[in-house]
Order: sequence, then structure tokens, then C-alpha cells
Amino acid sequence: MNKKSPIIIFTDLDGTLLHRDTFEFDGIKEYVKDLTSKGIIIIPNTSKTQVEIEDFNKKLDLNLPFISENGSAIFGLDNINKNFPNNIVLSREKEITFKVFQKKIPENLRSKCKIITKMEKKIQKEIFGISDKSLKNVLNRSYSTPILFKGNGEQKKDLFKIVKTIGLSLHEGGRVINICDNVSKVKAMNRVIKMIKKIENEVKTVGVGDNYNDLDMLRNSNIACLVFNDQFLMEPININNCIVSKQSAPFGWEEVVKMALEKIK
Ligand SMILES: [Mg+2]
Repeated sequence: MNKKSPIIIFTDLDGTLLHRDTFEFDGIKEYVKDLTSKGIIIIPNTSKTQVEIEDFNKKLDLNLPFISENGSAIFGLDNINKNFPNNIVLSREKEITFKVFQKKIPENLRSKCKIITKMEKKIQKEIFGISDKSLKNVLNRSYSTPILFKGNGEQKKDLFKIVKTIGLSLHEGGRVINICDNVSKVKAMNRVIKMIKKIENEVKTVGVGDNYNDLDMLRNSNIACLVFNDQFLMEPININNCIVSKQSAPFGWEEVVKMALEKIK
């Protein structure tokens, strides 16, 4: 592999590297570790929280740098280079952004937004499909407010449109919608690339995702990889040369990454 152009894999986690329902990835753990031991930089870029991704890192027994809460914060770049910061925050605190949301979104739409932190624990666990301990981690958010939207399609479109005009963003993942500051996976990704380009002439990027909220990240990568997800991806995605896996996560991740690395070689 060409040492002068490091390869960076920006990857979503849920439904992409982790099984959509069980969040398992045991079957590809060794492959992931093998890639990092070859010098490939893997950066999870996900709606997950800092503690959730740290938990993932623990399972991997690696200290991968990562981007949390849909591009709100970047952690662990100092694992790539000692001179890089350990933490970059790209978002205002969730208390501030939620106040803006409450103040500026019209009541008829706001009333359709069900705040998950205010729901019963049992329902919260069902929504996220997780256990008690994981629930604590998933709700341990610094920059985003997860909601369910109970309005119709037209109202949902309106909500997404208005949110953009008030300096916030909505991110729809597999299970919930997160109200965030004006952040995105791709903005955070570009911040990381800019930082790494300070010490490297060129980088080769691979973007891996499974859902709508990953598509910008994929478009922004040298090589785009989509992990098959029968539940969420129902329309054409219009990304040139996108590699699509036959299998779903976690094995679909290994499948597309192998093809992407083959292409880079
Ligand atoms: Mg996903």
C-alpha cells in the first residue's frame, strides 16, 4: 500500500458495521482490526453518542478516532497524530439548540414531535431496540435531541424545511430523528480531512453507510460504499460508481470495504 496516501474509512455504525437489530459485529471484528494494523484509518461517523462509541472501541480493543452525534463532535484525532486535538466540538449544547427549536418551530408541527427523553423507559427501550445499560448510553447526549415525528409526510417535509432556516438540522436515522445544531456527518468529515492534510499531501477516502443520512458522506468520499439495508433504502441514490453489498451488516461492511480497497490498489 502506498504510504504517501493514507486511506481513511469514514463509516456509519448502526446497520452499516453493526447488525441493524442486534448491534453485533463479532464476525468481522478481526477484519476491522486487521485493517487498522495495516495503517488504514477507520473513523466511525455516526449519530451515536460519545459513550456508545467508546463502548464500541472497547469491544474492538482499539482507540479509533470518531465523530459523534451526527457530526456534532470529533474525538481522538490525537490517536492519528500527537499534535492533533483530542476533542473538537462543532455544535452548541443541546439545551441551547432545543430552545431555538421550541421558540421558532410553529406549534402545529412542534406538537407532532414526540421527545423521546420524556417517554417511559419501556417505550424508550423499544424505540432504540436496546437494554437498560445501553439506554443510558444512547440517551447520554450532549448535542442532540431525539424525537419521533407523528405527523404526515407533507408536515414532515415542512418541518425539515423550516428547521434549516433557523440554523438547526434534523437527522433521520434508522430509528429516530435527531434535532441537531447546524452540523452534519460530512462537515465533520471534511474537518478531519483538512486536519490530516496538514501532515499528508493526499488522502484517499472511503465512505460507508446504509441509509439516507449517510449519502452526503458517501458522495464526499473518493469511494462510496453502501451496505445493503432492505428496510430503508428504497429509492435510487444517484452516486456514481457506488459499491453496494449483497449482504447486510456486519458482513456487508467487510464485503464493500474489500472491494473499495481493491479499487484503490
Ligand atoms: Mg445506519
